[in-house]
Amino acid sequence: MTRPIRATIDLSALRGNCAVARQCAGAARLWAVLKANAYGHGLMRAAEALDDIADGYALLDLDDAVALREAGFRQPILLLEGFFEADELPLFTEYSLTPVVHTLDQVDMLASTVLPARLPVYLKLNTGMNRLGLSAEEFHPVLTALETAPSVAAVTLMTHFADADLARGIAWQLVRFDEFAQGCDHPVSLANSAALLRFPEARRGWARPGIMLYGASPFPQDESAEALGLRPVMTLSSQIIAVQELKAGERVGYGGIFTAERPMRIGIVACGYADGYPRHAPSGTPILVEGRRTRTVGRVSMDMIMVDLEGLTEAGIGSPVVLWGEGLPVDDVATAAGTVSYELLCALTARVPVTEVNA
Ligand SMILES: *Cc1c(COP(=O)(O)O)cnc(C)c1O
Repeated sequence: MTRPIRATIDLSALRGNCAVARQCAGAARLWAVLKANAYGHGLMRAAEALDDIADGYALLDLDDAVALREAGFRQPILLLEGFFEADELPLFTEYSLTPVVHTLDQVDMLASTVLPARLPVYLKLNTGMNRLGLSAEEFHPVLTALETAPSVAAVTLMTHFADADLARGIAWQLVRFDEFAQGCDHPVSLANSAALLRFPEARRGWARPGIMLYGASPFPQDESAEALGLRPVMTLSSQIIAVQELKAGERVGYGGIFTAERPMRIGIVACGYADGYPRHAPSGTPILVEGRRTRTVGRVSMDMIMVDLEGLTEAGIGSPVVLWGEGLPVDDVATAAGTVSYELLCALTARVPVTEVNA
């Protein structure tokens, strides 16, 4: 028998979540965001599952985009950071890829490169995130330059929201975006998952949902994934591989950061930070054993986690454990660990065997 850890990827949940995004988007079209190996779920697997549901795929790496084309995917592909060097541009035309253009350097590269076909581009505008995008001063001359550049086809105006999941919302950025876009009739692309779910006014042009496709909530403090109609796609599961009986006062694991206050049974689970479980998850992080919710105790180690078996008299070696997914929302684990579902899902490591289900 092999080490019992598994990531089970539920393709029907992925498709169902995309259908929720589709419904929410109304007339807007959907880029399924597949960056970071489809948030840890597997790029090709996710692309295949969403083939007839998403209108296009948004990703980060040129190699991934080329791999999708070589695998036969024909839908539009958006590269969210565009190109980094002018010598990548011929690949964009060869493989029909759409770059995001967010710097003057990229504009110069586009304007000075002769291409065999015109490229559609997404022009990214900085409306307050202050990460990528052109300023209001840069925008108009650049738009004119792109509209007249022989290498450029249609220009779509795009921005990204910093607070769509928070109380501040998107209105303050939308006002700025509409100022930018005033007087032009270019297509637009605005909404991430949080904006798509929360703000009807962001459901224009092409939406860019990511996290909701994978069944996690973009605002877990306010609304659970389940309440949003989303189902977990990744279930990380394993088993108990050993049991220890502790006396009162005994400590657990590296650094002995957890001390048993009374005699207790603990289970040792085959899952650690080398599988992608967060090392910073404190004692008390929720975990399922035999389908029942208990808590981790002690420090997460490379290959193992310890769990409290109080009240789980039937649990022992071989008992099934769910780290997150079916029965235990990844958002609950992320919240306990002081992070977000995105980080946990993306962090799944290559050593974890993946099983697909299509229930
Ligand atoms: C990652 C990303 C998204 C998707 O965001 P979610 O919060 O996962 O929905 C959308 N747009 C851009 C530009 C991104 O980088």
